[in-house]
Amino acid sequence: PRPLETLHDIIRDTKQARDQVKPGKAVLHWYKRDLRLFDNRGLSMAADKAKSANIPLICLYIVSPQDYQAHFTSPARVDFELRTLEVMKKDLDALDIPLVVESIDRRKAVPGFILDLCEKHQIRHIYCNIEYEVDELRREAMLINKCLDKDISFTPVHDDVIVAPGSLETGTGNQYAVYTPWFRSWVKHVTQNPDLLEPSEKPGKNPSGARNALKALFERSIPPAPANKLLSKEEKKRMAELWPAGEHEANLRLNKFIKERIEGYSDNRNIPAGTTTSVLSVHHSTGTLAARTSVRVARNVNTRQYLNDGKKGISTWISEVAWRDFYKHVLAHWPYVCMYMPFKHEYSLIEWEYNDEHFELWTDGMTGFPIVDAAMRQLKSMKYMHNRCRMIVASFLAKDLLLDWRLGEKYFMEQLIDGDFASNNGGWGFSASTGVDPQPYFRIFNPLLQSEKFDPDGEYIRKWVPELKDVQGKAIHDPYGRGANKIAAKSGYPKPIVEHKQCRERALSRYKAGLGKD
Ligand code: FAD
Repeated sequence: PRPLETLHDIIRDTKQARDQVKPGKAVLHWYKRDLRLFDNRGLSMAADKAKSANIPLICLYIVSPQDYQAHFTSPARVDFELRTLEVMKKDLDALDIPLVVESIDRRKAVPGFILDLCEKHQIRHIYCNIEYEVDELRREAMLINKCLDKDISFTPVHDDVIVAPGSLETGTGNQYAVYTPWFRSWVKHVTQNPDLLEPSEKPGKNPSGARNALKALFERSIPPAPANKLLSKEEKKRMAELWPAGEHEANLRLNKFIKERIEGYSDNRNIPAGTTTSVLSVHHSTGTLAARTSVRVARNVNTRQYLNDGKKGISTWISEVAWRDFYKHVLAHWPYVCMYMPFKHEYSLIEWEYNDEHFELWTDGMTGFPIVDAAMRQLKSMKYMHNRCRMIVASFLAKDLLLDWRLGEKYFMEQLIDGDFASNNGGWGFSASTGVDPQPYFRIFNPLLQSEKFDPDGEYIRKWVPELKDVQGKAIHDPYGRGANKIAAKSGYPKPIVEHKQCRERALSRYKAGLGKD
């Protein structure tokens, strides 16, 4: 059985026993990737439980260096989470709810810490929102039983996705492996179950007396980032300006996007210059904004409140947010993708080039392909990259450089502020043609054509590759091939490290050979 099915079974089998647990002296909400107070299913259930027993709610977040290592979490992301926790601590404090942030080095020590906290504060009910990676699912399943042994009810709930994995099936009872029919089924399911988009209430104030009784918890401060995830002081400041943290900021961004840009989204979303998309991914992935909130707010401004019809910009945006659900469904159903295996096993036999120098030039934005270099430099600087460019650089790594896509997948996680295992894995699988519902292996992006099509005036390239800022006209896309040699050479911009046409042929033959098609 898949870890999510095991968890579902345990949740079902233990329901009666958990329902019988009597309230203790407090209820715990364990925060993970749901860093907000509003529209948070698990938090809301915990708050209701506390309210009904007139006992306080305590919130917990665990900073886990071992988790960061396992997921290759970027320092920018860790910093964003810690800044968000500062915002949350204040918001919870105003409700007399303490937020305990504990740094626990070893993953295995987490259950012990939680049980100790429960014993100390006589907590009998714990809630959390489910994460869909294998280790996390197994840990939650184990915790349910471990807690019950101590007469504690531990309830993991679906919140991170709009539709819970396992809810949508093809006519033959299987999980969809293709996005388009999956999306049709997703729209139908959400339309038939309108509660899925309903918001959950923010918690109310803790009973008077909570502040005194839990004084020691209120006094705890938020630990710093682990040593290997620390940003320099300057970087910290720059990131804070670039990516203000917390749910208030997320909601401001969402509302501004909906007011100013959503209607033009389907026409403009592939243009990387300027801001054409919502730039909300860091908020969706840390949970400062629920995907549910985004879809609900967007739907509510659409003509006749459609999900997949009405105003094109809005329905297209909703369908993009749905990709996030799709990839989490894939991860939950085919958990081996979490173990760096290609979705289709036959793609394991592609013979990759292991060329460290090419990999380094790719990460440094020094490949001599301006659109690729601009995108890789945007990533290094902003810790974010536009979606079209993510596809271009991923295809370039896997097909032009013929480097193992898993190197790119890991590097993205190490850099991105919005790094999300399922979406990143899905995006790499799509671009390298090794994943679920991928681009066919024989469709190979031509970086030059992509550049001309999506950055026609070279605005994006000029921003991120200043060596080329004086290059005029179309030469910006290929300075050495189109007569801007002097400017490029003088500024130290590299010549292309490979020749696309040859690389294309090489990729086709290696993919074919790997798949046994030659
Ligand atoms: P918008 O275009 O405004 O879309 C709205 C929201 O929908 C996004 O915030 C995001 O939550 C979701 N979304 C949009 N497109 C996708 C998609 N293709 N897959 C999954 N969710 C999507 N997204 C991540 O959140 N984390 C990642 O680590 C990540 N890695 C990627 C790696 C590759 C190789 C590729 C091709 C895509 C990756 N994506 C990832 C998806 C996508 O590029 C980003 O979600 C998007 O660029 C974020 O910008 P935005 O918020 O302005 O998106």
